[in-house]
Amino acid sequence: MSGYKKDTICVQSGWKPGNGQPRLMPIIQSTTFKYDSSEQMGRLFDLEDSGYFYTRLQNPTNDMAAQKICELEDGYAAMLTSSGQAATYYAVFNICEAGDHVVMSSTVYGGTFNLLTCTMKKMGISCSVVDPDAPKEELDKAFRENTKCVFAETIANPALVVLDIEKFADLAHAHHCPLIVDNTFATPIHCNPFRWGADIVTHSTTKYMDGHGAAVGGCIVDSGNFDWAAYPDRYSGLCTPDESYHGIVYTEKFGKGAYITKATSQLMRDLGSIQAPMNAFLLNLGLETLALRMERHCGNALKIAQFLEDHEKVAWVNYPGLSGNRYYDLARKYMPEGTCGVIAFGLKGGRAAAGAMMDRLKLAVIATHVADSKTCMLHPASHTHRQMTDEQLVEAGVAPDLIRLSVGIENAEDIIADLKQAMEAV
Ligand SMILES: *Cc1c(COP(=O)(O)O)cnc(C)c1O
Repeated sequence: MSGYKKDTICVQSGWKPGNGQPRLMPIIQSTTFKYDSSEQMGRLFDLEDSGYFYTRLQNPTNDMAAQKICELEDGYAAMLTSSGQAATYYAVFNICEAGDHVVMSSTVYGGTFNLLTCTMKKMGISCSVVDPDAPKEELDKAFRENTKCVFAETIANPALVVLDIEKFADLAHAHHCPLIVDNTFATPIHCNPFRWGADIVTHSTTKYMDGHGAAVGGCIVDSGNFDWAAYPDRYSGLCTPDESYHGIVYTEKFGKGAYITKATSQLMRDLGSIQAPMNAFLLNLGLETLALRMERHCGNALKIAQFLEDHEKVAWVNYPGLSGNRYYDLARKYMPEGTCGVIAFGLKGGRAAAGAMMDRLKLAVIATHVADSKTCMLHPASHTHRQMTDEQLVEAGVAPDLIRLSVGIENAEDIIADLKQAMEAV
């Protein structure tokens, strides 16, 4: 679909029906695939031929949805995972093993923070947490001989810190590492991190891509740009024979496809966090309207951010699309057509006022969800981030009074009216 605009790719890419075939992308709801000869099946297992044999590794419906996301990101290859968490885990674990080290932005999603600082630590992979706004010289100090990748978010959930992608890409590359960017909040409609030097992109497709709160899922996209073979000792998993595949060397056999092929044929085979084909089908339906919805999410969010800014009971508002915001210039550079539909704000009454207001909402429900067509609200310090200490909260850019408002695609006037009446309780 090269040459087409993103909104067209959203609708048309992935599935190309032949004569008399279904117009809508079909769900291939099958665990296995049939072959005529034993030899042919053997070749598939040796990665000598490409084809489907078992849905834990690959499924045609998943691949069609992944292909659409790959085109939206202008990437080389992509794969779906069962969740955003699985995407983050595989993206890092595909190039890191016990003894390796990761540099990560402090403002990443809470689940990513736990995964890298606690769970992967138990696997022997250590992580240094850095302030994404720190100057380059400061960030340089976090790198070690064994640092294998840098991880950050385009727009941090929920701190709404906008990443200076070029700064982070330069930094990572100066230390012979790829930059992995979680692009969940901006979506490829508003930002293409590859354009600014990122090497790998991850998504929680559970958010805007699905958009309807129907299916948990994730995606990894590889730009194909990082030259693993230039550092064979550092990325030995990609550049030396894989004994579990009769000694295949991924970079030699698959070139630019090495990273995604290894993640599929090795990590997915062994760890099995595959997305259900039914979820990939739902994801594809969500993707069809992604461009349309992002326009409305951002239009609504800007109006609501302006309303909150002018409200007497509001202490502060953080929305990168708001002129005067700390990240406004970075947002203009990397996301000129809009950022996301998520706003963070605090009330003058602090934590207690946040609770009182949220209990009175009628339209905007309290939900552990974000980036959805239905407006919802959450108080991270009491909900998603409650396992963090106050110190960690501040480091993550999450003030104890921060309310995360995920603006949906309802009529903005109705959302504003709901917020107005709820704030009367404060
Ligand atoms: C939700 C989220 C994740 C985790 O995704 P799941 O699909 O819930 O596993 C990762 N990164 C960001 C930015 C998120 O918002």
